[in-house]
Amino acid sequence: MKFATKVIHAGVSPDPSTGAIMTPIFQTSTYVQEAPGVHKGFEYARTQNPTRSALESNLAALENAKGALSFSSGLAAMDAILKMLNPGDEIISTNDLYGGSYRLMTKLFSKYGIKMSFIDLEKAENIHNYINSNTKLVWIETPTNPMLNIVDIKKVCEITNAKGIWSCVDNTFASPYLQNPLDLGATMVTHSATKYLGGHSDLVHGCIMSNDDEILKELRFIQNAAGAVPGPQDCFLLLRGIKTLHLRVERACQNAESIAHFLRGHEKVSKVYWPGFEDHPNHEVAKNQMKHFGGMVSFDLHDNTEISANKILSGTHYFSLAESLGGVESLIGHPASMTHASIPKEERMKVGLTDSLIRLSVGIEDITDLKADLNHALSLI
Ligand SMILES: *Cc1c(COP(=O)(O)O)cnc(C)c1O
Repeated sequence: MKFATKVIHAGVSPDPSTGAIMTPIFQTSTYVQEAPGVHKGFEYARTQNPTRSALESNLAALENAKGALSFSSGLAAMDAILKMLNPGDEIISTNDLYGGSYRLMTKLFSKYGIKMSFIDLEKAENIHNYINSNTKLVWIETPTNPMLNIVDIKKVCEITNAKGIWSCVDNTFASPYLQNPLDLGATMVTHSATKYLGGHSDLVHGCIMSNDDEILKELRFIQNAAGAVPGPQDCFLLLRGIKTLHLRVERACQNAESIAHFLRGHEKVSKVYWPGFEDHPNHEVAKNQMKHFGGMVSFDLHDNTEISANKILSGTHYFSLAESLGGVESLIGHPASMTHASIPKEERMKVGLTDSLIRLSVGIEDITDLKADLNHALSLI
């Protein structure tokens, strides 16, 4: 099945009792048994729910995986992965990580004796300096947020697979339409489905896909034991959102490309971060592992003050000032005061995350309107 067919058909079949073409929302907590232990495969809704099962089959297909698990949020999915580790185990992770993932690792899991190093993974070889006999997991995010750096998934996984170390790719920024990490050797892939998979800014959800039966079994055990399951309504909404994933991401990428070039030519803009530029440090890697270059664009200003950034942030009309990304509507954000506020200024500045850096999640509106909106906002400084 090709991708555009999978998003619509994989895991989904008409309801046998009514013929309903759309998977019903099974709003139930328990299931009646004919006799003790005699049931239709469903006992209690923390463990199984038919709406969730359909979604999980669909999600597995999108990442060419044997199985998928669906969670109440992206961070709940990550939490389950980290719970597979034991005290003394070590994680190696990309250094410009999503703030919530950084917080989960450093503020919660470090308490339980798990150690982590945050390193520059843009050069995959760097990883050799940090691997030791306790290294259990390498956590990759690519493209990274908000600097849009690219990590070579295949190269990193060649190193981890040779040493029997797990790798997990947070594929939220690319979506399964652009990039399939399991095909490049990753052990696990995770998404905040809140973003591109859902695509309509109307739900919070997370998922994990893998080809490793033991890992899938362990994750199912953890999910059932700890209980971070999504409700059936959110599973339904996500299944619905996924049906247009390919169309939405395709258009977002086209719009982002056009905006990246527009901004690069603008006199008030000093730097544009977008992996599609041929002079982006990892353009070739992006070209090889991604179908297009994504819907995210970050840029900095010649007048590099927060005051100027604020004029733009409150001067757009279609680009709404908000956290999150990946929806049909365009969003504009200020990483220094929003998503990355918890990172000390010196640390931020080292990677180019200045007070005037602006991040765009480009939506699927008409490109003429989007450009005019940014042009107007830039005229305010
Ligand atoms: C939003 C996000 C998460 C966390 O997902 P939630 O659904 O908000 O819990 C993790 N990773 C990345 C890259 C994200 O953008």
